[in-house]
Amino acid sequence: MSALKYTLGLLALLVVSAWAEERPVSELLWEANKDVVHTEDEPYVVDDIAYDNELERNADPCTSRGCMWGKSSDGKVYVPYTISGQYSSRELAIINRGLQSFSGFSCINFVRRSNQRDYLSIQSLNGCYSFVGRRGYSQTVSLSRQGCIYHNTVQHELLHALGFNHEQTRSDRDNHIRVMLQNVQSGMQHNFDKINTLNQGTPYDYNSVMQYHKYAFSKNNQPTMVPIPNQNVSFGKATQMSQNDITRLNRLYKC
Ligand SMILES: [Zn+2]
Repeated sequence: MSALKYTLGLLALLVVSAWAEERPVSELLWEANKDVVHTEDEPYVVDDIAYDNELERNADPCTSRGCMWGKSSDGKVYVPYTISGQYSSRELAIINRGLQSFSGFSCINFVRRSNQRDYLSIQSLNGCYSFVGRRGYSQTVSLSRQGCIYHNTVQHELLHALGFNHEQTRSDRDNHIRVMLQNVQSGMQHNFDKINTLNQGTPYDYNSVMQYHKYAFSKNNQPTMVPIPNQNVSFGKATQMSQNDITRLNRLYKC
């Protein structure tokens, strides 16, 4: 009987985790970050992007002024990281799968830090967030055990650390989505600020793991983004990096 119970319990766990894994990244991020209170030792965070201070929020794309990770003589880009001891082995397996996925489709290789100066410090702080690009010395990537340990959220935060912004802030987004500011919660409009992004000749991608969903930051259950020209196209449902995410990563880093 107990064996049956155990089997049923295991089955339920598998079903639940399979279900969670299929949920869109922006939904997971929203849920994990919605009630989060950051402590004084954490950086200034807006949505899931960290800044050194409040003023630099609208800075130009940093990839043109040296925030990329350096390329090694063998053509690979080694990005050192440390992982805090807070995670369970199951959580570590998900984080490692996310880290390792990059070497399968690009020249980015996340490697355990030995003595490199600049590195990602992966920790479970409050919510899911990352700085955009390389900041120098230790930089936090927060993957909270409460809601951030999924393949797509790990890839999403790592893409921020590699220099990428949200798809809906792209310089050409007005040709692909209409932002409905009248439906956005007050104080959250900055999440839809347009950035002079470097798009690497790749098209706007509704299936990017960096694209938020239709109702992101909605105050009234009305969409905050409507696709152009066909407003019924679904978007913001990526469960992993899209081909365009991969292509622009490879182009930015000249893999
Ligand atoms: Zn993000």
